[in-house]
Amino acid sequence: MQDDLLLRYSRHIMLPQIEYAGQEELTQSHALIIGAGGLGAPVAMYLAAAGVGTLTICDFDQVDLTNLQRQIIHTTAAVGQNKALSAQATIAKLNPEVKVYAETIRLNEDALAGRVSVADVVIDCSDNFVTRYLLNQLCFNHKTPLVSGAAIRFEGQLSVFDFRHEDSPCYHCLYPDVGDDQELRCADNGVFAPLVGMVGTAQAAEALKILLDIGHTMQGRLLLLDALNAEWRTIRLKKDASCAVCGH
Ligand SMILES: [Zn+2]
Repeated sequence: MQDDLLLRYSRHIMLPQIEYAGQEELTQSHALIIGAGGLGAPVAMYLAAAGVGTLTICDFDQVDLTNLQRQIIHTTAAVGQNKALSAQATIAKLNPEVKVYAETIRLNEDALAGRVSVADVVIDCSDNFVTRYLLNQLCFNHKTPLVSGAAIRFEGQLSVFDFRHEDSPCYHCLYPDVGDDQELRCADNGVFAPLVGMVGTAQAAEALKILLDIGHTMQGRLLLLDALNAEWRTIRLKKDASCAVCGH
């Protein structure tokens, strides 16, 4: 690592849980971020700032004026641009050491499976059940750790499904039924601006810990955040033996 990189990452290298070897590990890592919206924005920015060497960011949507209230990776000038490209441009200014692949079209299942298979960690920053279930299945198939997050109104959720461990529950254990009718979207329900930052930043922290293999992740636990009343609750999450995805 060159001198300017040692300086850039010095506050990480000082941490005994990371040190030089951990930072080097991050540099060699590849994170797949699905969605460059409210959650994807802090995830992408923190992983880039922290020096994760390669990021693949998938978003086929365009930046809209209504996004700017919370999707802090996008600027007013980026309205109308593809979100993955807008995120790539912001990261280029934040940390040019990071290689960013921007996926600007909707990936089919095979293409997405290919992206999952080469990633060290997948961060689900999507806003719909179809994508969440598909990512869960693909991560399970490839034994890739999945950091899952959701945020709507003042309510947030976070968990880690680390499929490298046999006893890890999965997203389908948590939500066994596919129900399009229960889909909650920001466009219809509203979302408190910093809520996506609170959840997304926690997702970034979990992803970094997975890449560094340090501490305890949220595997087997679900974080429920009520930002309106400042309540952070953690509940146990067990693997469902009859789960259609990860059960026997
Ligand atoms: Zn399961």
